[in-house]
Amino acid sequence: MNEVNKWKAELPLIGPMMEREEVLWLNPQVESTATALPKTSVTAKDVQDASDRLKRFAPYIAHVFPETTASNGIIESPITAIPQMKAALANEYGVEVLGELLLKEDNALPISGSIKARGGIYEVLKHAETLALEHGLITAEEDYAKFAQPEFSNLFAEHKIAVGSTGNLGLSIGIMSAKLGFDVTVHMSADAKQWKKDMLREKGVTVVEYADDYSKAVEEGRRQADADPLCHFIDDENSLDLFLGYAVAGERVAAQLKERGTLVDADHPLFVYLPCGVGGGPGGVAFGLKLAFGDHVRCFFAEPTHSPCMLLGMMTGLHDQLSVQDFGLDNKTAADGLAVGTASGFVGKTMEPFMTGCYTIGDETMFKLLKLITDTEGIRLEPSALAGMTGPVNVIRENVEYADSANATHLVWSTGGSMVPEEEMATYYAKGAGQ
Ligand SMILES: *Cc1c(COP(=O)(O)O)cnc(C)c1O
Repeated sequence: MNEVNKWKAELPLIGPMMEREEVLWLNPQVESTATALPKTSVTAKDVQDASDRLKRFAPYIAHVFPETTASNGIIESPITAIPQMKAALANEYGVEVLGELLLKEDNALPISGSIKARGGIYEVLKHAETLALEHGLITAEEDYAKFAQPEFSNLFAEHKIAVGSTGNLGLSIGIMSAKLGFDVTVHMSADAKQWKKDMLREKGVTVVEYADDYSKAVEEGRRQADADPLCHFIDDENSLDLFLGYAVAGERVAAQLKERGTLVDADHPLFVYLPCGVGGGPGGVAFGLKLAFGDHVRCFFAEPTHSPCMLLGMMTGLHDQLSVQDFGLDNKTAADGLAVGTASGFVGKTMEPFMTGCYTIGDETMFKLLKLITDTEGIRLEPSALAGMTGPVNVIRENVEYADSANATHLVWSTGGSMVPEEEMATYYAKGAGQ
């Protein structure tokens, strides 16, 4: 408690955060991409490698997931302009976004309907490739559609994959691992939704339930997996592969913006708003965007007021050495994937020179915006996917440089939604309507 009082005195935002107010923090440590890149061990080549690997697997993905045949087995989501939502935000907040407002629709990502279809699926594929290469089943030059053949699933059936999750990572890892033939276990935290557990069990995934939160599910999963040499544990708190899978989004967004004629340069900055749980998703994406756009992109992370673990970690520099509970917060939020009490230390440290800022958003705001985007744009998102939506309002209100320029583009990363069952969505919508 003494520690907390010390931080409260030192950092003026801590007090309001402990009262669960919505705040915006600007990172004093952010620096130019050119000087930031040499400070991290992650390189452009690592991200290129991940991108190449996903291309090798594309024929297999197209073969086993018919919903990806149109994109030739590349798992990607559209970027959609949301002008009606922009007008609704101006009406709601009295803040006009002069630049274009775009939505990166990871809610519509094929296979698992959330941003986890990037990192999670990538890490499973990489592990499958490593095993197949080791066992001489394939070379990197061959057609990876071969992964659908029985000798591959026979091999993978002897190997285990495990992960700890609040839900969406479990869906991605579970679906992909089961498809390849792995013996896969998902350790689910207490807040994980019943429909996610049911869906996984239907697909042959072992689901272990915990009465505790995300950190506990990860810890238990890691402990059980460590005891088994044939088990690969996908470590959401520390995984470089997850991070790289997310980072491939950078080059994809660059190509999509170019295609739609959206300019990003010194006079046309890109603001990106990324919902953050443990940090791998937004961290990886932000890193990829920095590689693609350098200083012309500004990345903001968004967290629930009850779970601002990344923000507390960044402000204090303590990263994974603290939990939101230390600051009297309960880590309870309806935002799936964002109910994380302790951020990834690896991601937090990596992000120090890259992240422009971080802000918090209340659950009520997410529900309100969920209803608003359904009404205005007909786009159905889960609550967490709305965390990015107050970003443009926050940065304009705070007079962040260029934020109010008509030349700026604001890209809200919507992180999940398409898998949510109808009844569940109706409940969310009703909450947004104040019922
Ligand atoms: C996991 C998740 C996030 C955040 O990703 P992290 O890697 O946990 O930071 C955001 N939105 C949704 C819907 C998620 O499932």
